Amino acid sequence: MLLIATRNKHKIEEIKRFVPREIEVVSLDDLGVKLQAPEDGNSFVENSIKKAIFYGNITKQRTIADDSGLVIDALDGFPGVHSARFMEDYSYEQKMLFILEMLKNKQNRAARFVCAAAYYDPIEKIVLSCERDVKGKISDSIRGTGGFGYDPIFIPDGYETTFGEMIEEKHKLSHRYKAFSDLFEKLDDIIFFK
Ligand code: IMP
Repeated sequence: MLLIATRNKHKIEEIKRFVPREIEVVSLDDLGVKLQAPEDGNSFVENSIKKAIFYGNITKQRTIADDSGLVIDALDGFPGVHSARFMEDYSYEQKMLFILEMLKNKQNRAARFVCAAAYYDPIEKIVLSCERDVKGKISDSIRGTGGFGYDPIFIPDGYETTFGEMIEEKHKLSHRYKAFSDLFEKLDDIIFFK
């Protein structure tokens, strides 16, 4: 059994696609976990490991967690590791409008989504985290209703459409797909899932 340690329903759906089919997965809600992991690290990898260890120790289950965010070059990497907490009381539409406004007169719209995917085994004390990104740019406007978070303003390299306008493609090229693919490939060598 493997715990997917996030409360973000979109992330759960995405991550489930990447877990090898033979592994049974459960969520924090399935296990009735109410506590909130600290997310005060300075990097995606650090935060992903903190989350996996926190929830793995509480539940005594092998746990995967991710920490992810949008990194915008012209804004010195903002919102970065603070992606979830930036303008916390505002809607994503308001957050995206704020970002578009900040980039209004900027030529450089380069950005990337980053994901660190972590694994923690509380019995064997194994910890692993893989970080990957998908590069692209910020669109001129909010486009599309698919996905979640900042998907409607992110256009991956090689595409004209935002993640919010995509249906299946995001899951084959996203930061989350790449990070979890790496993680499960590494785990394949050291762990026998049952
Ligand atoms: P976390 O739960 O601390 O990892 O927060 C990640 C935040 O980064 C999310 O709440 C979104 O705002 C943003 N983010 C991360 N991955 C994605 C994605 O795939 N699409 C859109 N926004 C994302």
